[in-house]
Amino acid sequence: MTKIGFIGLGNMGGPMAANLVKAGHDVTATDLSIGAVDRAVEAGCQRGETVAAAVKDADVVVTMLPAGAHVRSVYTEDYGVIANAKEGALFIDSSTVDVDSARAVITAATDKGFAMVDAPVSGGVAAATAGSLTFMVGGEKQSFEAARPILEAMGKNIFHAGDAGNGQVAKIANNMLLGITMIGTCEAFNLAEKLGLDAQTFFDISSTASGQSWSMTSYCPAAGPVPTAPSNNDYKPGFAAAMMLKDMRLAQEAAHQAKAATPLGAQAEALFALMESAGKDDLDFSGVMKLIRGTL
Ligand code: NAD
Repeated sequence: MTKIGFIGLGNMGGPMAANLVKAGHDVTATDLSIGAVDRAVEAGCQRGETVAAAVKDADVVVTMLPAGAHVRSVYTEDYGVIANAKEGALFIDSSTVDVDSARAVITAATDKGFAMVDAPVSGGVAAATAGSLTFMVGGEKQSFEAARPILEAMGKNIFHAGDAGNGQVAKIANNMLLGITMIGTCEAFNLAEKLGLDAQTFFDISSTASGQSWSMTSYCPAAGPVPTAPSNNDYKPGFAAAMMLKDMRLAQEAAHQAKAATPLGAQAEALFALMESAGKDDLDFSGVMKLIRGTL
């Protein structure tokens, strides 16, 4: 049993904290939302009134926050993790944030003698609830090995991606590719349909030919071929277009800094931004099919 402080009990953090309790850990949980803390207490966590109270006795601190600004604040301000954690504690940030924020916060923590990894996740609320998330971890090997047993209580696949920030790099590069392949898949299904080829027949051919991808075989954006895909459920998420757009923007930001050419990533970001402008970014990201069809 490990004493864990958990900060950020939203859609993802709530079920992740519950899985740490199920694995036998002693979890003190906190959030700005009292309702979120109440739900965590119902799941067996102890109530943390403040960030300082949640982390002061913890051997491990896990954070699951919206974006880089929240992570910088929660770790580096006076009320936060670094100023109030006990000596020797290990920090795991599982939020999806910009690479610069991830590296800056890890440097701030290690400068004060703490071990820290960035460990963003792939998989949505269903995977967080089932404890089957994929973690992409950046940081020193020793810190990764220390974090592994905690991550195993919340996830199924745990990868060490290299140095600090590399977990975020893996996450945004993967999601940029996912966004691009999803849009390409939508274009192909739309083209086939317009030329008189029905979605199921095109799927049967392309899913066993060279156009095949996860976006097609697991998450087909045309209704019919993959019964569990959001396309069969009015494009209810799933993984909302708003969250995909967040990851696309992080990828473009990082690409500019690294001077990496990502012309299709830029186009994909622009298309998901049109879903945002239309007020339709609460649809699943495969709902970009509606934009391509002209029915958004
Ligand atoms: P969410 O908005 O539901 O939860 C974030 C929680 O953090 C909220 O409850 C909020 O009150 C809390 N919070 C913010 N600032 C705080 C502070 N200073 N102190 C304490 N609590 C604070 O978001 P989510 O969907 O759980 O996502 C969390 C992270 O996981 C994001 O970075 C997101 O990009 C990433 N992610 C989400 C999904 C998904 O499907 N939802 C999938 C993969 C990754």
